[in-house]
Amino acid sequence: MSKRIKDELKKEAEKLKNSGIVPGLAVIIVGDDPASRVYVNNKKKACAEVGIYSEEYALAEDTSEDELLALIDRLNCRKEISGILVQLPLPKQINEENVIGRIDPKKDVDAFHPVNVGKIMVGNYDFVPCTPAGIMELIKESGIDISGKECVIVGRSNIVGKPMSMLLLHSNGTVTICHSKTRNLAEKTKRADIIVAAVGKPNFITGDMIKEEAVVIDVGINRMADKKLVGDVEFETAEKVASAITPVPGGVGPMTIAMLMKNTLKAAVINNKEDK
Ligand code: NDP
Repeated sequence: MSKRIKDELKKEAEKLKNSGIVPGLAVIIVGDDPASRVYVNNKKKACAEVGIYSEEYALAEDTSEDELLALIDRLNCRKEISGILVQLPLPKQINEENVIGRIDPKKDVDAFHPVNVGKIMVGNYDFVPCTPAGIMELIKESGIDISGKECVIVGRSNIVGKPMSMLLLHSNGTVTICHSKTRNLAEKTKRADIIVAAVGKPNFITGDMIKEEAVVIDVGINRMADKKLVGDVEFETAEKVASAITPVPGGVGPMTIAMLMKNTLKAAVINNKEDK
């Protein structure tokens, strides 16, 4: 599915270029976290596949907040840059909120800026955070109707859980959000027609916590001691009860990147209109 989306986006990027609009993405990484490095490389690779111009800024671990904000200010002003992405997490000396708030909302392809978060809340948005957007595509493209379904999200982060809840709600799901203080978690997950697991704990959701025929979306990416990647869902037990399930690796990860490409093309169009 992610490949098909990227192929479509490639054609769209070509059309935009023919009309004089060149989409461009700036990716900023601070420090040398190996997982972040992998994600940034994948994003750059996807840009090349789709035909999006990309620039990478690899900053040292001890970069100050002021230096990072100054770079964002410069990128905000540049016409060739349609989208700006700051890879999270950031080192301790940098306040994430200040950084996210500094990105021009029209270039905020991650949709983390409070303006874009607010727009998602009211249901009138340009950008949707890439992971929840990718999950919605997975569900809808698989022919699964969300309307009236019990949707249980485990995890309430600003990146995944919270925006996910809004998107499912806008699609008329009945949404429950669980977190570390939730009591009787299995009781909630067992009710779900659709489960989204975004916890960051390997094999946390097991088959016995899932209702027969449920749709299971596994967002988690956990690297084990033997370097293997596993999700938040115990795949072997869950697949026996689920009607549909996403794997890790694969599944949500590639869809997230495809949605980043989609948001960058959208940003190119929006910023081009603004310039006129
Ligand atoms: P966070 O650490 O920000 O959030 C984790 C959430 O899980 C929190 O809301 C936390 O609750 C909740 N939680 C922790 N322990 C429990 C528990 N025992 N019972 C119920 N809930 C619990 O993580 P993210 O949302 O950023 O990411 C989640 C996972 O998804 C990670 O593995 C991450 O690597 C992966 N990820 C994958 C992406 C992809 O493209 N596939 C993109 C983004 C993330 P509380 O709020 O109470 O602390």
